[in-house]
Amino acid sequence: KAAMQIISAARADGRDALTEIEAKQVFNAYGLPVTSTELAKTEDEAVALAKKIGFPVVMKIVSPEILHKSDAGGVKVNIKDEAAAREAFNTIIKNAKAYKADANIHGVAVQEMAPWGTETILGSTNDATFGPTIMFGLGGIFVEVLKDVTFRVAPIDKVQAAEMFEEIRAAAILKGARGEAPRDRKALSDTVEKYSSMIIDLEDEISESDANPVLVYEEGKGLKVVDARIILK
Ligand code: ADP
Ligand code: MG
Repeated sequence: KAAMQIISAARADGRDALTEIEAKQVFNAYGLPVTSTELAKTEDEAVALAKKIGFPVVMKIVSPEILHKSDAGGVKVNIKDEAAAREAFNTIIKNAKAYKADANIHGVAVQEMAPWGTETILGSTNDATFGPTIMFGLGGIFVEVLKDVTFRVAPIDKVQAAEMFEEIRAAAILKGARGEAPRDRKALSDTVEKYSSMIIDLEDEISESDANPVLVYEEGKGLKVVDARIILK
C-alpha cells in the first residue's frame, strides 16, 4: 500500500517524523482531501511548480527537524507571481537556516492555495489504555486558548463523527452562526471517518498525527486539509 511505502522510506532514512509532503501522501492514500503539494529543491524548480499548480501558491519549508513551520518563518502564503516565488524560496531557506543551523532541509513545498474557510483541527494520539484516539475542535483561539475540543476512541463512523461536532462549545459556528452559511458538516464527518480508518489501519506505525488546520467551506463545498503531521512509533 502507498501509505506503508512512504512510512518505510522515512524509517529507512532514520526518521520518526514524516514531512508535511509525506504526511499528506499518507492522508491522500486514505481519501482525505489535502492540498496538492510538491517538493522544490531549487528556486527554478519552485517557479516551475508554481506555474504548473497555478498562482497564487503557498510555499513552506520541508525539514524533518522543523515541525512548526511558521515559528521558523517557513510559511509564505498568497505568492502571486514568479518574482514572488523566487523571493519566497530564498527567504524560506534563509529563515530555516537561521532558525536551526543544523536542520536537514529537503527543500520547499509548493502547494495550491486553499480558499479561506472555517479552521478546524483533527488530531490523533495512541492512548496506552484505549489505543488510537481522535481529537476534534475548531482551530485558532478555540483550541489554543479555550481548549474547546472533544475526543473519541477510534474507530468511529460518520454518525459518531457528527456527534463530536455537537459536543464542542463552539458547535454553533459549524451550523452557521451570525448570518454565516452553515459549514459542510457532511464533508467533515466523511473526512473524520476516513481519518479514523487511517489511524486504525496504521495503528502499529503512527504514534500521533494531526491535520491543522482543516479549512471547512459552506455546505456542498467540502473542505481542505492544508497542513498534515505524522509522528511514527
Ligand atoms: P505550521 O507548521 O506553522 O502549522 P501550516 O502549514 O499550518 O504551518 O501553515 C500555517 C498557516 O498558513 C495555516 O494555519 C494556514 O492558515 C495557512 N496555510 C498553510 N497552507 C495553506 C494552503 N495551502 N492554503 C491556504 N492557507 C494555507
Ligand atoms: Mg499547521
